[in-house]
Amino acid sequence: MPLIVQKFGGSSVADTQKILAAARKAIRAQQEGNQVVTVVSAMGDSTDDLIDLAKQISDNPPAREMDMLLSTGEQVSVALMAMAVHALGHKAVSMTGAQMGIETSSVHGKARINTIRSDRLRAALDAGNIVIAAGFQGIDENFNITTLGRGGSDTTAVALACVLGADTCEIYTDVDGVYTTDPRLLPEARRVKQISYDEMLELASLGAGVMHSRSIEFGKKFGVPIHVRSSFTDIPGTLIVAEGEAPNQAVCGATLVKNESRVTVLGVPDVPGSSYTVFSKIAAKNVTVDMIVQNVAADGRADISFTVVRDELATTLKAVEEAVAELKAEGFTSDENVSKTSVVGQGMASQTGVAQKMFRSLADAGINIQMITTSEIKISVLVDREQGPAALRTVHQAFELQKPPAVAAPAKPTSSAHAPSDAAAVVARLQNVQGMENLTIDDIALDDSQARLTISGVPDTPGIAAKVFERIATDGIFVDMIVQSFGRNGKANLSITVPRGDLVKAHKTAEDLAKQFSCGPISSAPQVAKLSVSGIGMRSHTGVAIRMFRALAEAGINVEMINTSEVRVNVVVDGSKGQAGLAALQKAFADTLR
Ligand code: ASP
Ligand code: MG
Repeated sequence: MPLIVQKFGGSSVADTQKILAAARKAIRAQQEGNQVVTVVSAMGDSTDDLIDLAKQISDNPPAREMDMLLSTGEQVSVALMAMAVHALGHKAVSMTGAQMGIETSSVHGKARINTIRSDRLRAALDAGNIVIAAGFQGIDENFNITTLGRGGSDTTAVALACVLGADTCEIYTDVDGVYTTDPRLLPEARRVKQISYDEMLELASLGAGVMHSRSIEFGKKFGVPIHVRSSFTDIPGTLIVAEGEAPNQAVCGATLVKNESRVTVLGVPDVPGSSYTVFSKIAAKNVTVDMIVQNVAADGRADISFTVVRDELATTLKAVEEAVAELKAEGFTSDENVSKTSVVGQGMASQTGVAQKMFRSLADAGINIQMITTSEIKISVLVDREQGPAALRTVHQAFELQKPPAVAAPAKPTSSAHAPSDAAAVVARLQNVQGMENLTIDDIALDDSQARLTISGVPDTPGIAAKVFERIATDGIFVDMIVQSFGRNGKANLSITVPRGDLVKAHKTAEDLAKQFSCGPISSAPQVAKLSVSGIGMRSHTGVAIRMFRALAEAGINVEMINTSEVRVNVVVDGSKGQAGLAALQKAFADTLR
């Protein structure tokens, strides 16, 4: 029999009427011939209310007791939901995380799911019950109640869908799907019919707060189709599956992270291990860093810039101060009035002209780009905070995201998880998986087919990046990585990687551009090695980049360029160090390879 997991968020069970409405949806799904598991969050804001209560007693309550307290929110809603199903004349049984056998790590407040024993769930379903499952909670080896982190019910739902081999996992929420950008920021945002796991992970990390990232990682790892939809209407929402809305679509969404800060560490000795020193000190303070950009060194010293969310700037600067002292760097600067705009799309890697189009649109709107970073599926630019909303609108329009893509993907996911007949096999396999949520690295790769080119002293004014990339495109040069550093004295450095065979041509182009903008010098490395680590859980398991930096530093290898996404971290090192770097990374990640 087909099996559906449905999840209702806090706003969908905020009062008893809503609980009854959710119960009706569950009953309807059962009457349509499915077995049904319904995961619920705590009612409305009750988790926040519980946190407030705790704070009235102590500033620093024991984490174990916090989990004991917070898990009660979901216990209330599962009980009421089961009563609602009974009241409507159907069979239901509610279960806590412990009763379902959701075994987690012991990290209170952000526990990871290790295993789920599905036998009790199965038995209850086979007896004709709708199973009402408490989201957000589990139990550790020693029977302590744990929680998965705020918003964790999504992760419970997708994890249950995995172990039960569900045909689909429906996430009912107060928005009716995933949009090309936040509709509150941009009314012309469009709901997308379908989006890939990778795109969704990227959008989620860039602030599209629709779902808990860990749930998407789960969906991707175990191939569960996720359907995000409104609890208050019946319109189809957005499917999150392996492929996006249209084949090879260059851009599927745009985001704005308003409150970013930029930090630049000045004059860092350009030797192996300096990035590691900077970023490990920041990581030790639990701050997540984005948009890492390193200037190619002048006189043996480089500037390293990156962004953090504004709330974490003060903490970050403490770590930076320590790093500056230890490395004998020249100092640091920061700016807390910047925003980050990004475009995301799976098809971007195989198409030219995406960067150029983005930069041109910003130039035409008179918006200056302070920093650029790219990855296989995203381009991010840093702009002045005042211009953030305009930057978002501009790029959204440039890629015509308000219009559906020309060729729509098939309405049903083609890469659906597993035919029902496979379900038993999947369940059997998952029963033996220890650490379902562990970081898994799929691939560690070396690409030594590229060269690096850097134009220094580029004027930091609107329109330069657009002109540069238009000219590069006209000359038919395929660019892979792009990095524009935060400049000193109104001058920035722009580095790109290109196929090695194109370097001579690219050098000529760069010379022309340098003449046009009276800048320079131009430097290049005819052979660089791009080392990448890709997998699932790269963001939520912070520290992947750090582990790479450490491994390379220990091998005496200097990092020249860096780029990161949710599914991959790339670093560029000297071409002669490619093999050694690969070996160092393989060793460093040996325990995580699947
Ligand atoms: N009730 C928990 C929270 O508010 C879990 C959830 O809603 O997903 O974070
Ligand atoms: Mg909630």
